[in-house]
Amino acid sequence: MKSEFKKDDCVTLHIEDIGTGGEGIGKADGFTFFVKDAIVGDVIEAKIMKLKKNYGYARLMKVLTPSKDRVEPKCPVARQCGGCQIQEMRYEAQLAFKQKMVQNNLERIGGLSDFEMYPVIGMETPYAYRNKAQFPVGEDKDGNIVIGFYAGRTHHIVEQTDCCIGAPENGEVLRKVKAYMQKNQIRPYNEEHHSGIVRHILIRTGYHTKEIMVCLIVNAAKASCLKNAEQLTESLREMDGMTSVMVNFNTEKTNVILGKKSEVLWGQPYIEDFIGDVKYQISPQSFFQVNPMQTEKLYAKALEYAGLTGNETVWDLYCGIGTISLFLAKNARKVYGVEIVPQAIDDARNNAKINEIENAEFFVGKAEEVLPQYYENYAKEHGGETAHADVIVVDPPRKGCEESLLQTMVDMKPERIVYVSCDSATLARDVKFLRGNGYELQRVRAVDQFPHTVHTESIVLLSKFKSN
Ligand code: SAH
Repeated sequence: MKSEFKKDDCVTLHIEDIGTGGEGIGKADGFTFFVKDAIVGDVIEAKIMKLKKNYGYARLMKVLTPSKDRVEPKCPVARQCGGCQIQEMRYEAQLAFKQKMVQNNLERIGGLSDFEMYPVIGMETPYAYRNKAQFPVGEDKDGNIVIGFYAGRTHHIVEQTDCCIGAPENGEVLRKVKAYMQKNQIRPYNEEHHSGIVRHILIRTGYHTKEIMVCLIVNAAKASCLKNAEQLTESLREMDGMTSVMVNFNTEKTNVILGKKSEVLWGQPYIEDFIGDVKYQISPQSFFQVNPMQTEKLYAKALEYAGLTGNETVWDLYCGIGTISLFLAKNARKVYGVEIVPQAIDDARNNAKINEIENAEFFVGKAEEVLPQYYENYAKEHGGETAHADVIVVDPPRKGCEESLLQTMVDMKPERIVYVSCDSATLARDVKFLRGNGYELQRVRAVDQFPHTVHTESIVLLSKFKSN
């Protein structure tokens, strides 16, 4: 198609659809435009930024007629900040969008039709949900310290210390750190020149315990780079719940936030929190689910879908620090967890110990290697008898499971497979394989772990097809 449009032209668009990144999609003269911050139902004026052969990108200039789902974002920098993508969309509409996305992928990629989508599990109050925040620290052109979040796709820092999806305590922590830095002339890190000291401030909070950890990530090898650090720790200790003040060393030129080593400035090297009645110790580097309220709902569903009676052998693949494994262990005979990151398995074993859980065993390695090897060795050691699992839970990263792993899972003939997914496109692909290999889809549910962002979590139950 030949377009008459030019860059910088203004167009009027009726937004009719939403893209996977949350951008609004509208057409002008049959030509498709993607517009960040525009939502379905809006009529807008947009300026063309980039043109491709069949589509283009445009910038929202003016909302001419707002969609019925448009709301005033709670955050004053919602548009600039890269953290949230759909804060201007009414929360009920966000939930409907997420549910629809999971359903569409299961239909389009999974080849399913005629299945029931159980209602999406949303939050009652979709704010102040994150238990972890990592604020980049920089300076403006006049040399003032700026703390906030990166703008989308850049390293420009948008000033924001009171993010409404983060813990309410974050603002006070950041003001204290900033005051300490100003008083002691401690410079923020400068990415371009690889100079300065403070790169990021990591804050973790315990949802049930109300404990707080503050960790300064510094461009230095020793804690002495933080002159008069006792001023910082004393000031932070005034806050209720302060449990841990730490420093993490990262002298690399890298986008990776945390370095390998951390040191305690005051308090403990971890905070504790609970999911259900399982206690977890969380250090600066630990992976821990960021939305504790929704995680409890998600794991409760995993437990329900697993249908445990106390006699089962369960595998939890991609187990991280063993959160799902330990949550299920009390209701199973034995749980095996598999995870690629060795430190996460250290955490998992430690968490099993502090909870006195003795029927969970953990393996370090790739799920697609550990499980097939276990299956093969089992047969060798048991005269050809095959290893069996009653329930297999998987919670893979976005790329989903490898087919060889899915095949071994099928070979182990579990009654139930519980699939927790952060990308419903790969979920749908894997469900298609499992349905072609003796499993039926029983339940699908989206769970909103990340309100105001486009990230969508879902949980699915498949059970072994019963032939008569
Ligand atoms: N179930 C956990 C973590 C899920 S996140 C929880 O709920 O907290 C996905 C996990 O898969 C991450 O911890 C990641 O390190 C791990 N992972 C990524 N690729 C893997 C692979 N090939 N084999 C095993 N684990 C893998």
